[in-house]
Amino acid sequence: MTGSIRVGRLLGITVQVHATWFLAVWAIAWSLARGIFPQRIPGLPVETYWTMGFAGALLLFGSVLVHELGHAVVARHFRIPTRSITLFLFGGVAQIAREPERPAHELWVALAGPATSLLLAGLFRILTPSGDPVPATALMGYLSSVNLLLAVFNLLPAFPLDGGRVLRAILWSFLGLERATRVSTSLGHATAAAFIALGVLAIFTGRPVDGLWLVLIGWFLDQGAGASYQQMLLRHALRGVRVRDIMTPDPVTLEADLTLEEAVAGYFLPRKHGGYPVVYGDRLLGILTLHDLKQVPRERWSTTRVREAMTPIDRAHTVRPEAPAYDALARMVQAGVGRLLVLDADGELVGILTRSDLLHLIRLRSELRE
Ligand SMILES: [Zn+2]
Repeated sequence: MTGSIRVGRLLGITVQVHATWFLAVWAIAWSLARGIFPQRIPGLPVETYWTMGFAGALLLFGSVLVHELGHAVVARHFRIPTRSITLFLFGGVAQIAREPERPAHELWVALAGPATSLLLAGLFRILTPSGDPVPATALMGYLSSVNLLLAVFNLLPAFPLDGGRVLRAILWSFLGLERATRVSTSLGHATAAAFIALGVLAIFTGRPVDGLWLVLIGWFLDQGAGASYQQMLLRHALRGVRVRDIMTPDPVTLEADLTLEEAVAGYFLPRKHGGYPVVYGDRLLGILTLHDLKQVPRERWSTTRVREAMTPIDRAHTVRPEAPAYDALARMVQAGVGRLLVLDADGELVGILTRSDLLHLIRLRSELRE
């Protein structure tokens, strides 16, 4: 997700927080400190409520992180690596490297999250002190019920929520992936509409904050359902295609010692490609893209060499020729780049794959299907 900050690694997975996460922590801490906790245990100092509020908000997101790790651990069991987990305004999202290939895999990966949340709800229930209410009573009680709510909400049969994935996995066996996705994303859109309607109702019946949240959640679900359906169509269009089938083999390369001016005049302008692999003799050093070029002021183009402005090979985005085309597309979108260098097992340059190669194929295939 753009606008995310990396905070560390857990079980080999990058954990990051999105800019909107800070807003969410503050909003949740505020509603706990000013509303929920004073109602449950009156008469405590204001600072105590705020401490409890921030502890509650952080432990809530800790629980969301554990929920996502639940998905990741089961996905790993099926050899599906998780690239990152991002916490943001509406919770958490695990970026898995590829979609499950079998209905059973999708089913277990999807169930793992809500099952983890249920376990956490039970754990916080056990940790709730008995006897006279103390701050920990309210805090643990809140965390127990919010984890239960997380499990139930995520089990709604609305794609892309976990419950929607469970439904799709079950339908997948009978209807095939495309129709199963269509049914479960339709339910996703319908659920989103219900949330928005409930939210509007709440706004007009004197609960504007709750209403606004419901509308936002509905909007977010609707976006997610639309994006998931699009993603499925892309995956369908690229099914069975490998990088080597659509890459440009033996791409035109740039000599590392050319100046940027020579590179522009001899390559970028006449040939119209947006990026070229950079070589020195027959050694691949990196890639020079229009983006790299624009980082250098124009008046220095005649004195700057290609090797000084390029993205070196250890930071360039590469792909193997046998990788599925869909994975390559996902990589490009995630990294925000328009091309990948295709390297074989020995690190030799064998081709270049651009986003337009992929889009061209997708367009062609979807037109031929109609
Ligand atoms: Zn989940």
